[in-house]
Amino acid sequence: MRIDADVDVSSGGQVSSVGLQTLTAHIPTIEHITKAGGRVLLLGHRGEPKGQPSSELSLKPLADAFTELLGKDVGFNADCIGRGVEQAVAELPFGESLLLENVHFHANDLKNDINFTRYLAENSDYFVFDTLTLAAEDMSSTVGCIAQIPSCIGQNISTELEQLERVLTAPEQPVLAIVGGAKLSTKLEMIQHLISRVDMLMLGGGVANTFLEAKDLPMGKSLLEPNYIEAARDILAEAGILGCRILLPQDLVTAAEIEHGVDTQIKIPGKLSSQDIALDIGPQTTKTWAKVISGAKTIVWTGPLGAYETSPFEAGSMTVAQALTQASGRSLVGGGDTITCLEKLEFKGKNTAISRAGDVFLAYLGGQDMTVLKHLQR
Ligand code: ADP
Ligand code: MG
Repeated sequence: MRIDADVDVSSGGQVSSVGLQTLTAHIPTIEHITKAGGRVLLLGHRGEPKGQPSSELSLKPLADAFTELLGKDVGFNADCIGRGVEQAVAELPFGESLLLENVHFHANDLKNDINFTRYLAENSDYFVFDTLTLAAEDMSSTVGCIAQIPSCIGQNISTELEQLERVLTAPEQPVLAIVGGAKLSTKLEMIQHLISRVDMLMLGGGVANTFLEAKDLPMGKSLLEPNYIEAARDILAEAGILGCRILLPQDLVTAAEIEHGVDTQIKIPGKLSSQDIALDIGPQTTKTWAKVISGAKTIVWTGPLGAYETSPFEAGSMTVAQALTQASGRSLVGGGDTITCLEKLEFKGKNTAISRAGDVFLAYLGGQDMTVLKHLQR
């Protein structure tokens, strides 16, 4: 069973609390198999050992974590291939599970090498793929194994997929997407995909700066991408044709520099001086957006709406996060910095799911294929 084992472990061998959530997500699949009498070999990688075994990146501490989470002993084998595994499997009682050592201690995993894949698969009858986070990865321990033995997805990835599908495949309408973050270039494909699928699109952060500049509203010294101004204009035109309503910031929080506690001003786009830096969406914008959010039935959000790492430029993201908690619509939030930002704000919302699938979440919003799932469908 391929799991997401890429969790933080302290020098004392304690899996971080976020890491424990990642491991906990695999428990239903493990129990589903073991309670039916099946035996599970847990296969995963941690960090980037570049084909070199290292005690720091060993998965051993995870065996203790799994033992605790399952309330049942989970053994550990010091390699993921070879005679040792064969022997351990021969001795493994029915209904039990065994964690194998970091598969990236072998460089061939990343090459999706056929011989290595055969070694990986030789002790198993079935392959269960159970993490969306790796759904776009071309490794022996992902797509490779699927070609070797009968394969299926587990309950964790199935839940993660349902979350995504609820947002884009058959969402309750109206659908609202909120996209922020630093650069339009990294979000361009996603935005192009979203405008044909959502009713409304709110743009904030550095991404919005390029759009405002594209509307001939000079953004001073704000972060923006001059090479993408044309692309922004095209999106505005295309969205108009498709009937997707784009909401840009009506006001911005500006400062002369990115510095904790720096003096700020609220400015309307078009009124920025050549020295101003726009670092967050303004209070009028958050007020309007909160109202729109309360009327949406499905909401997807990725990308912080301001330079949230520096106070007070987390305020816009915080107000939008609060609006999500009060909205009756269902929401899904994801993206590396977005999750960090929400953790900083200690966000909790009963109608909000958080996708931890990282780049795969973003790729899904951008309409990209997920390699592993394609192989499984075949
Ligand atoms: P994610 O990781 O969620 O996809 P991104 O990496 O695209 O998000 O963007 C996050 C970064 O964008 C953060 O470092 C944040 O400081 C930055 N950012 C957001 N708005 C602005 C802004 N107005 N000016 C400068 N940086 C911004
Ligand atoms: Mg990021």
